[in-house]
Amino acid sequence: MNWFIYWIRPSKLPMLAYARMISWLVLAAILFLASCAPAAQQEVRPATATSQRAEPAESVTPEPTAVAPTPAPSPTPKPSETPVLPAPKALPTVTPALQIHVVEAGENLSIIAQIFGRTIASIQLANGLQNANNIYVGQELVIPPAPGEGGSTAGEKNGEAPQERSVLPNYVLCPAEEDIEPEGDMTLGHSAVCRIPIVVYQIGQGDTPLVIVGGVHGGYEWNTILLAYNILDYLHENSDAVPPALTIYLIPNANPDGLYMVTRQTGRFTPADVDDDAVPGRFNGNYVDLNRNWDCDWVPDATWRDNPISGGSEPFSETENQILRDFILSEQPAAAVFLHSAARGVFASGCGEIDPPSRSLAEVYSAASGYPLYDVFHHYDLTGDAADWLAAQGIPSISVELTNHESLDWAMNRAGLAALMNVLAITSD
Ligand SMILES: [Zn+2]
Repeated sequence: MNWFIYWIRPSKLPMLAYARMISWLVLAAILFLASCAPAAQQEVRPATATSQRAEPAESVTPEPTAVAPTPAPSPTPKPSETPVLPAPKALPTVTPALQIHVVEAGENLSIIAQIFGRTIASIQLANGLQNANNIYVGQELVIPPAPGEGGSTAGEKNGEAPQERSVLPNYVLCPAEEDIEPEGDMTLGHSAVCRIPIVVYQIGQGDTPLVIVGGVHGGYEWNTILLAYNILDYLHENSDAVPPALTIYLIPNANPDGLYMVTRQTGRFTPADVDDDAVPGRFNGNYVDLNRNWDCDWVPDATWRDNPISGGSEPFSETENQILRDFILSEQPAAAVFLHSAARGVFASGCGEIDPPSRSLAEVYSAASGYPLYDVFHHYDLTGDAADWLAAQGIPSISVELTNHESLDWAMNRAGLAALMNVLAITSD
């Protein structure tokens, strides 16, 4: 060290004064660096959102972190395990003031809820967390606005009492109750998060019920909902299209939260209402895939293509499915038809083995419509499927997969349904 000091030290300066000068320089350098560097321990980042009122403003959510659709993230997720599923893009939505909290060691949702003065449930909801115990150190959690703060209330601008409004997993605020257009002949129940009615239309008065269900996959398969409305309008306008022996129970949308997530619409809508990225709308408001939540081969960690998705915390954990199950079991229909897209085909059903009555009906629909006939869905392992469970309960069920995600395949499905109705009317005699 001495050689260095001799080299740099002006010869006249006393050693002590020189040392003091060096230490001041070091301190100044540290202070300078500290003032420039980003705060390494920054835990709570205030969002830049400014919209404070519950209006459908064009403001955009400040880069939401991906809502983890996996029910059980490992404590140290490797990059390869990062879900590739719906990192919800910036959607036009009402933007409350969102805060992000990075989970620290020793924290759980209860502690975090206390820190921010929120309920555990509201944090779970805002982050699509099925299980409150499934958080990990380093995870970024959205802290939803407190009731009465920012976009989480409606009616403030009119001087009304603030009203609780829930937020969907992609940060879309649920519709106000008064904005939901009533529809349907009967309300079966309400969606899990936004409490949007799930309705059924009844056509005909016959003794043999046929249930038709659209929209299980919500806004992602929005064409199945429009097809259901098309069927409804057609049957209303052509009363002789329904054989007298039949009663059609048509549920246009079994997943209203999923439709609302990507359209901000309840009931009827147009293709122009659908966001470019409709994928988040596949799930319900708890971010569960409703067609992985029925009690046939059910698993919590389900699959959609290569993506891990949630099948729910247990079979029928989702209120939408409880509603559908209870209604169908109470009606004991001669058949149930589920509309999906876009695997182009008619699929028979069965839990474990193919159910012969379901296969017969799938044959009828396939032959008349021109859709290829399949015994099983072969694209990936299907768990918790609705039609499979119903077939096992003695209710013949088929799944109709439309050709793509836009077309209604109207002529094909009109022909398929007509053939199906005729067969049911004949066999009911
Ligand atoms: Zn589907």
